[in-house]
Amino acid sequence: MSLQNKKIFLSPPHMSGNEMTYIQDAFDTNWIAPLGPHVDAFEKELAAYAGVKDAAAVSSGTAAIHLALQLLDVKAGDTVFCSSLTFVASANPIVYCGARPVFIDSEPETWNMSPQALERALLDARREGQLPKAVIVVNLYGQSAKMDEIVQLCDDFDIPIIEDAAESLGSTYRGKASGSFGRFGVYSFNGNKIISTSGGGMLVSNDMEQLKRARFLATQARDQAAHYQHSQLGFNYRMSNVLAGIGRAQLEVLDERVQARRLICDRYQEALSSVPGIQFMPELANSRSNRWLTVITIDEQEAGTSVQEVFAALTAQNIEARPVWKPLHLQPLFEGALFYPHQDKEIVSDQLFHTGLCLPSGSQMTEDDQIRVISCVKKSILQTIHSS
Ligand SMILES: *Cc1c(COP(=O)(O)O)cnc(C)c1O
Repeated sequence: MSLQNKKIFLSPPHMSGNEMTYIQDAFDTNWIAPLGPHVDAFEKELAAYAGVKDAAAVSSGTAAIHLALQLLDVKAGDTVFCSSLTFVASANPIVYCGARPVFIDSEPETWNMSPQALERALLDARREGQLPKAVIVVNLYGQSAKMDEIVQLCDDFDIPIIEDAAESLGSTYRGKASGSFGRFGVYSFNGNKIISTSGGGMLVSNDMEQLKRARFLATQARDQAAHYQHSQLGFNYRMSNVLAGIGRAQLEVLDERVQARRLICDRYQEALSSVPGIQFMPELANSRSNRWLTVITIDEQEAGTSVQEVFAALTAQNIEARPVWKPLHLQPLFEGALFYPHQDKEIVSDQLFHTGLCLPSGSQMTEDDQIRVISCVKKSILQTIHSS
C-alpha cells in the first residue's frame, strides 16, 4: 500500500519505550499477578498527579464507575443522573446495579452537563420524593464540565458526584485536575485514551476509607480469614502488576501527550477555522482541555455538505474519523428513560450528534498525516461550495 493511503487512526496507543523497563521488572521479580509493587506505585503516582488522597487501580474505567456506584449503595429502584452525550460505559454500570438512569442534556459552552437541565431535574426529583443516589458528570473529549455550577447544585441537594474523567486525564478546571471534583473520579487507560495500559482504569477519591472498601470489593470481597469466606458480593476488578507497569511509564509522559494533542488541535484550528460552516469544540475560560480528540461541527447550510459526506470522504482516504457520541437518551438500550433538555425547545446533545465530527488526534500523528486530513476535509467542503 502506498504511503499516501496509509491508514490514519483516530487515537491509537502511543508508547514511550520506557514501558518495557517496568514490564521487564515485573517479569524479573515474577510479580505478574496478583497485584504487586507497580500497582501500589501507579496508584500513588496517579493520586499525586490528580491532587487527590488516594487511587485504586482497576481493570477498566467502566469497573471504576461500577465500584463508585456500589460504594454509594446504588441498588434496584434507585435513580442516578448521568450526562446524555457520552459513551455508553458512563451509564451501563447504573443498570448493572439495577438502578434507573435519568439523562441530562449538554450546554453549548462545554458540550457537557447543562447546569440548568440538572437543576430542573433535581427540583422535579425532590418534588416527587426520589432524589438520585448520584450524579455522573462526564468531561467530554477532554473538556471539563462547568464544575462550579454542578458542584454547587449537587451540594445544595446533598447528592454525591461521580466525575467520569475517562477522557480528560491531564485536563484542568480552575487549575485543578479534571477528575478531582467529585466524591469519586474515574479515569480510563483503554487503548484509545490519552495514555493507555492496553486496558485499565482508576478510581480516585479523597475518602481513603471508601477506596479501601473499593479495593476489597474489587478483589471478590474476601473476608479476613485464611479460608475463603465471603459476606458480601464482590467483583474481580483489580489491575494486574504488568499493566500497572505500563501505566507508570505512560504517566511519566502524560504532560507531553497533552501538549502534543493541543498542538494538533491548534493546527486544525489554524487550517480549518476559516472554512465555511466549520466550528470547533470550545474551550471554557478557566479550563484547559487535554484535547483528547479535536472535534468540529459542520453547519450543513453554510458548508453545503453534511457531516456524513465529510465522514465518507475521510473514510475513502483511509482516515479514521468518528461522529460525536450518539446521546444516551436516543439509544435503543435506554428507551423510555427520563431526559432533561438544556432548554424547552433546545436539545443541545442532539444538535451536536447531528453536526459533530471527531478528527484523528493521536499524539504521534505526523504533520504530513495531519495535512492529509486537513486537505480532505477542505476539499469535501470547498468543492461542494464551488460546484453549487
Ligand atoms: C472510555 C470511556 C469509559 C470507559 O472506560 P473503559 O476503560 O473503556 O471501561 C467511560 N466513560 C467515558 C466517557 C469513556 O470515554
